[in-house]
Amino acid sequence: MKYYSTNHSVEPATLRDAVIKGLAADRGLFMPEVIKQLPQSFFDSIQDLSFQEIAYQVAEAFFGEDVDADALRNIVYDTLSFDAPIVHVRDNIYSLELFHGPTLAFKDVGARFMARLLQYFIKNNAQSATENSRQVNVLVATSGDTGSAVANGFLGVEGIHVYVLYPKGKVSPIQECQFTTLGQNITAIEVDGVFDNCQALVKNAFMDKELNQHMMLTSANSINVARFLPQAFYYFYAYAQLKRLSKSNPSIDPSQIVCCVPSGNFGNICSAMFGQRMGLPIKRFIAANNANDIFYKFLQTGHYDPRPSIQTIANAMDVGDPSNFARIADLYGWNKGKSPAESGISGATYTDDQIATAMRQCHTETGYLLDPHGACGYQALTEQLQPGETGFFLETAHPAKFKDTVDRILSTDGNPSDIAIPDRLAAFMKGTKQSVAMSRDFADFKAYLLEQ
Ligand SMILES: *Cc1c(COP(=O)(O)O)cnc(C)c1O
Repeated sequence: MKYYSTNHSVEPATLRDAVIKGLAADRGLFMPEVIKQLPQSFFDSIQDLSFQEIAYQVAEAFFGEDVDADALRNIVYDTLSFDAPIVHVRDNIYSLELFHGPTLAFKDVGARFMARLLQYFIKNNAQSATENSRQVNVLVATSGDTGSAVANGFLGVEGIHVYVLYPKGKVSPIQECQFTTLGQNITAIEVDGVFDNCQALVKNAFMDKELNQHMMLTSANSINVARFLPQAFYYFYAYAQLKRLSKSNPSIDPSQIVCCVPSGNFGNICSAMFGQRMGLPIKRFIAANNANDIFYKFLQTGHYDPRPSIQTIANAMDVGDPSNFARIADLYGWNKGKSPAESGISGATYTDDQIATAMRQCHTETGYLLDPHGACGYQALTEQLQPGETGFFLETAHPAKFKDTVDRILSTDGNPSDIAIPDRLAAFMKGTKQSVAMSRDFADFKAYLLEQ
């Protein structure tokens, strides 16, 4: 399968090149030339298949032409060693819990899958002997969740070194320990600045000729096809679970399923849209945003107007210029004159106060604990679900990852809150922090990388 650039000014790339390079040379995002339909027989029996079996069929449609079947099966089974259960919250609203992986957030799947696929391409398919012996270096800027998922997904993977850049003092201690205590092939770089400084250092590094001659560099955020496409597994599995539930619950109509995704860079929802093109019967999408409402405004006005991000309590969605917008626009033909109003996508945007209210109301009325990101999804479904529809939102991270915020919000009604920290998270907190101090000056970062 070839991958074209959303900017259409370079030749299509192989999967291998798309994964190793991340971004096309014309700064566009890679898109598969064909989105394969899955057969009706797959959807007829999907409710009887395991998460891994479903994911393998989906992975085969994406990557089967380019990756050996046994290797692909191993990659899928190695990635999905945990569950993504669908949980009833209220009425016809369900939560798809994507926080049962190693770092308790949905990015675990894409990060692990990408680590394994990248390893496959550098080990088995090296185009020359020198390339085979060269280490690939992954640079990732993070405000929390991306860094922990990528660091854990790539931990111990031979031939790849990861540099996680994060803003000093701006990442919660619970998140920080998930990528600063690992050691091995993971280096945490503590930048004296804000998230935007970290991102600028990474972008400058990708564009620096001398650095790129010195070392092979790639990125592991959702611009990379190997990171965002595997997220589609979740949606097929959600459908399978709802279909299974519909056998004993006649209020669930599998042809009336609405999918609501708390979105930041829009990689997750974009993978669901690919799923729909492959035949997954999702009736419509809701993209739920925090106060960073660029996509919401686009749906209302047809104008895409990126802005600097605003800091919110759902900070993994603090994105002012979503990187996957170009992919979604390409998929729906918005750049060729098609109207976003006819795309079957609606939006929602919430202030911090509204997010907090949703978390409190949901907890009081249903007992279900939301994190600030999932709360945007929950609230959007509560407001927009129509009679006869069944909706699921993505609970994208475990509430304990945002313990301070969650406890503060849930305590305001006079009942002190102290949500439990899962063992997996507590284990990270026992480790010793190791990081490299860095200024926000690119010359310093470059000098450091040139010494590696
Ligand atoms: C990354 C993240 C999101 C946003 O996902 P995108 O794919 O960037 O839209 C939402 N919630 C949490 C907890 C995240 O870590």
